[in-house]
Amino acid sequence: MNASSESKNNLEQVVSLAKRRGFIFQSSELYGGINGFWDYGPMGSELKRNVREAWWKFTVHEREDVVGLDATIIMHPRIWEASGHIGGFADPMVDCKDCKKRHRADQLCEEQGAKLIQDGKNWKLPEGTKCTSCGSKNLTEPRSFNLMFKTYVGPVEDESSVSYLRPETAQAIFAQFLNILPTSRKSVPFGVAQSGKSFRNEINPRNFTFRSREFEQMELEFFIRPDEAVELICGRVTTLADNPDLTGKPQDDWGWDVWHKYWVEQRLAWFRSIGLPGDSLVEYWQTREELAHYARACVDIEYAFPFGVQELEGVAARSDFDLSQHQKFSGKSMTVMDDKLRLAVSEMDDAKKAEFRAKTIASWKASGKSEEDAGAFCDLLFEGRYIPHVVEPSLGTDRLVLALLCNAYDEEEVADANGKKEVRTVLRLHPAVAPIKVAVFPLVKNRPELYEKARGVFKRLQRYWNCFWDESGAIGRRYRRQDEVGTPFCVTVDFDTLENDTVTVRMRDSMEQVRMPVSELRSYLEEAMKV
Ligand code: ATP
Repeated sequence: MNASSESKNNLEQVVSLAKRRGFIFQSSELYGGINGFWDYGPMGSELKRNVREAWWKFTVHEREDVVGLDATIIMHPRIWEASGHIGGFADPMVDCKDCKKRHRADQLCEEQGAKLIQDGKNWKLPEGTKCTSCGSKNLTEPRSFNLMFKTYVGPVEDESSVSYLRPETAQAIFAQFLNILPTSRKSVPFGVAQSGKSFRNEINPRNFTFRSREFEQMELEFFIRPDEAVELICGRVTTLADNPDLTGKPQDDWGWDVWHKYWVEQRLAWFRSIGLPGDSLVEYWQTREELAHYARACVDIEYAFPFGVQELEGVAARSDFDLSQHQKFSGKSMTVMDDKLRLAVSEMDDAKKAEFRAKTIASWKASGKSEEDAGAFCDLLFEGRYIPHVVEPSLGTDRLVLALLCNAYDEEEVADANGKKEVRTVLRLHPAVAPIKVAVFPLVKNRPELYEKARGVFKRLQRYWNCFWDESGAIGRRYRRQDEVGTPFCVTVDFDTLENDTVTVRMRDSMEQVRMPVSELRSYLEEAMKV
């Protein structure tokens, strides 16, 4: 299923096919377009929906420890204060004073093989940085630009009514944690998943849908016990150094680093299952300097896009930062009662507790935290309580759709019915995400009996899959049209069908055809779609 390398590297071909075949259009094209916004057409909306549904099935329905959420886009502005977005969700921006082009300063430096210099809250361009548009060195100093879209709630436009379009879906999960916990009847470790729109006023949207101003995310917050609670419950903490089996059922004694790696592996497995080859994905472990101050580890899962190897999904171990922030800002306790922990501590005598406390204080102090905080944390643990930690896989739906399109795009030379060579454009999408699963064709449309038979086959298949009916043009042309939108199977009803109730099924990738009884069609296709 691999696309040939020269066609894979051509973003322009993918952009052109996306437009020509109704996958992705420029938003507001009628009025000249609007930068950083994209619409999904008849094929694109199906593809994106399939991606979303496959993610939900894998992340929520096929597990017993993850539930869903569907929260609003506009939320109380205090949420964004607590999360740090109002204070710190900013990118550095520079303008070229000559050609007036605006750049994201870190990207401008990277493109010239350099690194933006950060000095506290200020940024500085390294010596010799040029505008990549006109080559001028006449650039402004980098200025901080907050990426959140602002709006006003209600009729009065003043400071008290300012609110924001969410820049990520994740915060709602933390903000609704206290409602989700009792109503889901789950206990830690468990997760909450959400997919939906996010908005970022990106300084420089680019690379087609890769960096947009309105986009979709699919995010999971998976809540885990702090390692100290795991130790009290299990008497040990399994870490990655112990080489645990990550393919089986998660274990009670897993520490945070095992959970983190487990989710990286889960995400990679899911990407492979929907057709992104493992060798096109890169696991990039952020260095200590790159990590956010609260993060313990973060892996960027990167894909080899035609414009470079770039982030598709981030999987971050975020400690208890998010829930602790919301506890601080809302004044409501974000601690959970853990029955297993309560039982474990009820069996500890005072000497054991004192020993545990001393060990915890020493290790917290060694990592720069206060003795007072460590003591308060132990007191909570001894009551059977803690603020859960979290592992967050965060994926952009549009980026994934783009990766799937780039990976699936292929051109190959084939011979037509008369032996003449022609180029076939084919989207080798995995059947799980293909917009149309089966196309049904009557060989001719002017024979009522044959036509009706074909309609019957179409209607039957339509009960199970998104099917497409096409009665116009030569059959070869009809196959080619389906190849271009990635339809894995075409079913043709012909004169033999009327004789013996058989049809031909034509495969997109191999172009092979097999003949089979209509009665076996459904089970055959069901099997073939599992690839
Ligand atoms: P970047 O550094 O590229 O701006 P980020 O690291 O801030 O992105 P996150 O906040 O981790 O991105 O967002 C999680 C995921 O959401 C990303 O991995 C990406 O798939 C998606 N995403 C983020 N910003 C955009 C955007 N502007 N357009 C499309 N997808 C995006």
